Amino acid sequence: MKIAVFPGSFDPITVGHVDLVKRALPLFDKIVVAVGINSTKKYLFPLEQRLEWLRQVFAKYPQVEVDSFQNLTAHYCQKIGANYLLRGLRNASDFDYEKTISQLNHIVGGGIETVFFIAQPEYSHISSTIVREIIIGGADASPFLPPEINIK
Ligand code: ADP
Repeated sequence: MKIAVFPGSFDPITVGHVDLVKRALPLFDKIVVAVGINSTKKYLFPLEQRLEWLRQVFAKYPQVEVDSFQNLTAHYCQKIGANYLLRGLRNASDFDYEKTISQLNHIVGGGIETVFFIAQPEYSHISSTIVREIIIGGADASPFLPPEINIK
């Protein structure tokens, strides 16, 4: 069975993340959208809230599971039997960062392959960081969020 892990903070999940999962579905039997818990990182939304949103957004996709993990992504993949990682590339700085991480994961994870999707033009400007700024600034972030997510 081909299992891919889509790791991220999803703080919060955006339409860009959802697009990536939908495009990757034909390639895998199962995609696990997994929230990585980094104890040194400050998040806007609590873990439970982020997981709840992910569950709602992907409820209609039986191939998609939602989970969370601590420590190394590569070890989490090995634990659940996933041989693939899923990541998105929006621009050159994503590429520089992702290249190193993917090479490390290949070694640490004993051959894990990272599959990259180039962001669609209509989503390539969307990041959780920008969405958080919009929310903190009191503006309407709904154009960037899946319809299941309602932030007032
Ligand atoms: P992290 O904290 O690991 O960066 P994110 O939740 O910010 O987690 O992003 C997870 C993954 O989703 C990354 O590979 C990122 O490149 C990808 N991604 C985020 N936004 C988009 C988008 N608009 N289009 C395509 N991929 C995206």
